[in-house]
Amino acid sequence: MRVYLNGEFLERSQATISVDDRGFLFGDGIYEVVRAVDGRLGAAELHWQRLARGLAGIHINRPAGLTDGTLSELAARLLAENGLDGGDALVYLQITRGAAVRTHHFPPAATAATVYAAATPFRAPDAIRARGATAITLPDIRWARCDLKTVNLLPNVLGKQQAVAAGADEAVFVRDGVVTEGASTNVFAVFGDELRTYPATNYILPGVTRHVTLEAAAALGIAVREAPVLAEELAAADELFLTSTTNDVMPLVAVDGRPVGSGRPGPVAERLFAAVRARLYAEAGYAMVGR
Ligand code: PLP
Repeated sequence: MRVYLNGEFLERSQATISVDDRGFLFGDGIYEVVRAVDGRLGAAELHWQRLARGLAGIHINRPAGLTDGTLSELAARLLAENGLDGGDALVYLQITRGAAVRTHHFPPAATAATVYAAATPFRAPDAIRARGATAITLPDIRWARCDLKTVNLLPNVLGKQQAVAAGADEAVFVRDGVVTEGASTNVFAVFGDELRTYPATNYILPGVTRHVTLEAAAALGIAVREAPVLAEELAAADELFLTSTTNDVMPLVAVDGRPVGSGRPGPVAERLFAAVRARLYAEAGYAMVGR
């Protein structure tokens, strides 16, 4: 497996970072996960936009020369060098504030950011989609900048583990009685003719798949309201579904052991899944690299 680290492509076993790296010591970094299908990145420009916003949000200077175009080329090269330019793969990218003597405040301005990227094979969770996923609800104990995709994922890690231990697929966070998002997904609810999801505030990650799903819903004439879904409303939803780069659109068929709607994947999720997959991985209009 070949990976990218600080300007070099090298064997994964040769890729090492300093114990002083601020990503390791403080979780002081930003990451992205981009899906590739047949060597083409899905919605690369939306991922790179969010990355830029995240880096600016925590004041990490992007290394000179690391443009959106360079990132897409780097991803294409990783896919090709690892024989992942056919089929499904994921590209992981992480940029930290670099390695420096440990201080809470920022290191000297000349400290180089650490840039790491890797491509791995991926299999879409189609079997789970066919039966529908399950979730538990948990208090949202995260900080108030969930809109930044930082590598500080401890509440998400603990939440997902609690879900897995309970035999569920996802943890859905609830803040002040309102459903915000999942541990690694955005959450949508269907009530009658209306599709509802939490607005893109500081309390959720603005998911790329969420964005594409909202566009797809508009194109399909589905009424959308970006407004909170109350935890107590979940039981009355006709459908619930999750969105993420690795799940596309994933129906939720039970929450906290109670069936959602009919207890089976619903028609709105199914239509949106087809539309989102087509938009992300087949149609033109989104930046694609490679073949
Ligand atoms: N919300 C959280 C907390 C996430 O970690 C993720 C993805 O990892 C998402 C939502 C979905 O975002 P995207 O559709 O960009 O993958």
